[in-house]
Amino acid sequence: MKAIKPHYIIETEINGDQLLKQIEKAGRTCYKSEDKITSDSAAKFVSALIKHGHEAMIEHNAITVRFVCDRGVTHEIVRHRVASYAQESTRYCNYSNDKYGNEINVIDIAGGMNFDTKMKNYDPDTIAAILLEWTAAMEAAEKHYMRMIELGATPQIARGVLPTSVKTEIVVTMNLREWRHFFKLRTAVDSHPQMREIAIPLLEELKTLIPCVFDDISVK
Ligand SMILES: Cc1cc2nc3c(=O)[nH]c(=O)nc-3n(C[C@H](O)[C@H](O)[C@H](O)COP(=O)(O)OP(=O)(O)OC[C@H]3O[C@@H](n4cnc5c(N)ncnc54)[C@H](O)[C@@H]3O)c2cc1C
Repeated sequence: MKAIKPHYIIETEINGDQLLKQIEKAGRTCYKSEDKITSDSAAKFVSALIKHGHEAMIEHNAITVRFVCDRGVTHEIVRHRVASYAQESTRYCNYSNDKYGNEINVIDIAGGMNFDTKMKNYDPDTIAAILLEWTAAMEAAEKHYMRMIELGATPQIARGVLPTSVKTEIVVTMNLREWRHFFKLRTAVDSHPQMREIAIPLLEELKTLIPCVFDDISVK
């Protein structure tokens, strides 16, 4: 059993200025104001679209992100309906195979605990005791999974004993409007700590890559 940190990879090559120009070009069709396009008009135009709630225009651009996280987090991600997904399947992946190192990978809960409003204030001994208990549960789940496979169970049946913490990968494509909606919900203080653990750094990185589109979404 290996515990790994959750992370994400932005799979779309992003040129923020180009992206804004593309949205501006689509948006200006509404007003036939293409003649107002200049080398630096896009950011101001797109900011105004967002400010006035004319967000359908930012649907003209999509970004793909690969999340490596646990299945609890992906269960929440896939509730967002205006998106496309591809997810590692516990039906077809047989973690007892050499290809997977003959072990299960799980997502370390330590980082998520730091985002939990109550647990982040716990003393180190309490955190260590909780981590120890979690590790024992992960090892037990792995032992039973491997034994079930040994006895002839298919991965799609043996997966019944895999924990919520099991590592998974999901490729998510959303247009910019849906990403905005996603970040507003999934970086909020009341969203799941392990969701915040990956959604907040992704939002901050996208803010640096794409001018103005995400600037009004602030994290508390
Ligand atoms: C803090 C938090 C706690 C949650 N707790 C629970 C829970 O306990 N149980 C639970 O089941 N879920 C829970 N959820 C999931 C939540 O109910 C939504 O399923 C999820 O957040 C997806 O968001 P969404 O429905 O706004 O929009 P998306 O699916 O992302 O769609 C984007 C927007 O498109 C529009 N839209 C999409 N589909 C439709 C439609 N069919 N009809 C009309 N408009 C539509 C809506 O305006 C929607 O906001 C929770 C979410 C959060 C953030």
